[in-house]
Amino acid sequence: MDFSQLSAEISAAIRDVPDFPKPGIIFKDITPVLQNPKLLSETAYYFVHQNMSLHADKVVSVESRGFIFGSILANDLHAGFVPVRKKGKLPGDVISTAYTLEYGIAELEIHKDSIRLGDRVIIHDDVLATGGTVAAAIDLVEKLGGKVVGICFLIELSFLGGRERLKGYPVQSLVVY
Ligand code: AMP
Repeated sequence: MDFSQLSAEISAAIRDVPDFPKPGIIFKDITPVLQNPKLLSETAYYFVHQNMSLHADKVVSVESRGFIFGSILANDLHAGFVPVRKKGKLPGDVISTAYTLEYGIAELEIHKDSIRLGDRVIIHDDVLATGGTVAAAIDLVEKLGGKVVGICFLIELSFLGGRERLKGYPVQSLVVY
């Protein structure tokens, strides 16, 4: 299926916010996509169409914007949804990993009981920038014995080289800048 028309419409809807959350960053605001019923539903359809043949057991997403399409995708694929959160937010037993992102350094955590040995896992986030966040999510999933079978983004900032950092994993993005 050809999603180039959807990609163009999403690209037109995304709002560039200069110098947010700090000087020099052009923030890609996806809220105009979310508030448009047609774009919301077609984007959800895109993600399920691209991932349905992967037979995933879990969709793992990174807080907080990754949760939006990640949970819709998990529901549509009849998979479980697993949140990856910043340090101190998950209440159960966790494992953690340190990571760097386009504008900071932090630690991410996942519940120890969220992934079973051999689970087929799709990782989703809204934006692929340097790839540090999703590399950390991969690390967490693999430490728990999951197999990353797909990684999908709404937006890829290709000039930041995130795809090279995720080399060896199947990466898909709807809109590439
Ligand atoms: P990275 O780890 O560098 O790939 O950064 C990806 C994470 O940071 C994602 O969770 C994004 O939500 C967020 N992010 C990084 N850069 C941007 C940007 N320019 N606009 C919006 N979100 C961004």
